[in-house]
Amino acid sequence: MIRITDIIDKVLEYNPDADLDLVDRAYIYSARVHDGQMRLSGEPYLSHPLEVAGILADMKLDTVSIAAGLLHDVVEDTHATREEIQDAFGPNVAHIVDGVTKLSKLPFKSSQERQAENIRKMILAMADDIRVIFIKLADRLHNMRTLQFHKTEERKRIIAQETLDIYAPIAARLGIYWIKKELEETSFMYTLPEEHERIKTLINKDRKEREVFVERIKRQIKDKMDEVNLNCEVQGRYKQFYSIYQKMTTQHLDFEEIYDLVAFRIILDTVPHCYEALGHIHAIWRPIAKKFKDYIGFPKPNMYQSLHTTVIGNSGDRIELQIRTVEMDQVAKSGIAAHWSYKEGKTIDENISKAYEWLQNLVENQEHIKDPDEFLESVRIDLFPDDVYVFTPDGEIKSLPIGATPVDFAYLIHSEVGNQCTGAKVNGRMVPLDKHLKTGDRVEIITTKHNQPSRDWLKFVKTIKARSRIRQWIKQQERERSISLGREMLEKAFRKYRLNFNNFSKSEEMEKVVQNFSFKDEEELIASVGYGKITPLQVVRKFLPKTKEENDDDTLITRIISKVRKKRPKGGVMVKGMDDILVRFAKCCQPVPGDPIIGYITRGHGVTIHRKNCINILKTSPERLIEASWNEEIPTSYPVSVLVRSHDRVGLLADIAGSISKHGANILEVNTISRTNQTVENRFTLTVAGTEQLNAVLAAIKKVKLVHEVKRLNR
Ligand code: MN
Repeated sequence: MIRITDIIDKVLEYNPDADLDLVDRAYIYSARVHDGQMRLSGEPYLSHPLEVAGILADMKLDTVSIAAGLLHDVVEDTHATREEIQDAFGPNVAHIVDGVTKLSKLPFKSSQERQAENIRKMILAMADDIRVIFIKLADRLHNMRTLQFHKTEERKRIIAQETLDIYAPIAARLGIYWIKKELEETSFMYTLPEEHERIKTLINKDRKEREVFVERIKRQIKDKMDEVNLNCEVQGRYKQFYSIYQKMTTQHLDFEEIYDLVAFRIILDTVPHCYEALGHIHAIWRPIAKKFKDYIGFPKPNMYQSLHTTVIGNSGDRIELQIRTVEMDQVAKSGIAAHWSYKEGKTIDENISKAYEWLQNLVENQEHIKDPDEFLESVRIDLFPDDVYVFTPDGEIKSLPIGATPVDFAYLIHSEVGNQCTGAKVNGRMVPLDKHLKTGDRVEIITTKHNQPSRDWLKFVKTIKARSRIRQWIKQQERERSISLGREMLEKAFRKYRLNFNNFSKSEEMEKVVQNFSFKDEEELIASVGYGKITPLQVVRKFLPKTKEENDDDTLITRIISKVRKKRPKGGVMVKGMDDILVRFAKCCQPVPGDPIIGYITRGHGVTIHRKNCINILKTSPERLIEASWNEEIPTSYPVSVLVRSHDRVGLLADIAGSISKHGANILEVNTISRTNQTVENRFTLTVAGTEQLNAVLAAIKKVKLVHEVKRLNR
């Protein structure tokens, strides 16, 4: 068992100025709270955090990481609380321990297609503080080293599979290859014990011979490098059983066909030396063209750098070579951890921003994620810190733009969940649907069957998906309404000509009419009437018995319209093509002749006429709007509201009333409100024939003594 002094020695080796007091105190605290607990191996529990801290020291991490490693299980497995950790070891250690604890509580799914998702969870934790992941990897590494103590084979297999699916790829993506290799190798032993044993046997069979070969090649390389004065170290190493197994299965090769069981490595001092060495290697052995890769000029996203080449040796054997500097070798072993200089005194922010830069590269270049788009979407937090990350009740991560609400979340899950959303719980508590979600929130949507989305949701939703789905739903509703309105209008129009619309429904005649209008089907024709795209008269006309005279379309239309006008002299307004429809004037904006107007198709109440600039019209969907114009031939008077603000004085009201009647307008109503400073407000409802008369009235009132302001109201 590793001792605390061993760990301290390791730390001092790479960081002589380390804050060892922090490590010491974390050790004493961990020992105290874990006291009496045992590992499955029968060892005292403390051996585990010590081993984890030892691995972190192997990764050359800062003392905050080492301390957090010693404490990583105390919140989950002992009576210790986050607050105690914070008080005793500061916010950084507490934050990391908290992150490790939270991560271990997230349910991981181990099937292959879930892999990307699980990795995303890790990336999330990483974006917060990458040291959480370092500790998690060290924790898993030690757990894999002691996996044999688990009681059932099934349990061992599940843990090993999870390690292969999640932890090894994470280590690979972080470039910590020594952890990746060890995790894969141990997992392989438990997930496919027979395959593991087979490869082990095959390698051992020719091991002696092969070792002679390896020594010979190493010697040859070393001699060549000495000859050209390149200082270097040459290594020849067996590949892991797991990567041999993978190569055999993915490339359908027999063991005998695997030529690169051993990989050679030349480690030099400088980058120019690497290229120089490559040249000399290619001069003595013929390279295989497609096998050459320059990861020095084009580093891998996880910062791995090396020259890779495969050459054909003297006896026709293929030889795989990696050429790199000492520093690159260091990075190849510890990956991002080598660059992760959490040196004392350095601010975390500096390092975090470095991590984002790296993550960005990772995301842009990664090749192995199942659904790259989805992956990218989810790591956007790293690239655009304006996103929030929230969890589903199953622990899945969803990313949303900042300011997103439970409704956005619901639509992200599924359109139906959005449409049926009636409430939401965040972290177990009911919240309003427009609440802004925060990173880390656990969101649960409450749905009710047959619930309908609200137009009001459009005021607060943030995502394009929610917005478009709500709009789509409203449009669908409008279509349904238009169909029922259109049907109503058609039935009415047909009755007028003693025809029954429903008798024509689905008839051959109807089919022809539908084609004539170039509609898809009868429903679309009916809806178009409801939307006001065509008039019911245009439709009726097609069904009327054709006389010689009536064959002239223009005559027919004129005849029908004049008939309708005669019947409804009160209209005062012409609605495009809808002369026989009930027309009303909107109370909100009180249009009078002269105002630009527009019609709004209501459900079952005909058309309401608004002023074109009415706020209510600007808010409605354009499908329900229809052109309208004043019919000047029919003189009528219309109500209009006017506000007059003036200094209070005797005889004021009489003077105003006089100037109104002077221009022929009538007063329907007047309300007087006294304000402070002797100001008085009079609200008149007048009837006028049009804007011309109204403007004359307003101008006249303005001239009344002590009147400050006169304006038409837009109630
Ligand atoms: Mn642990």
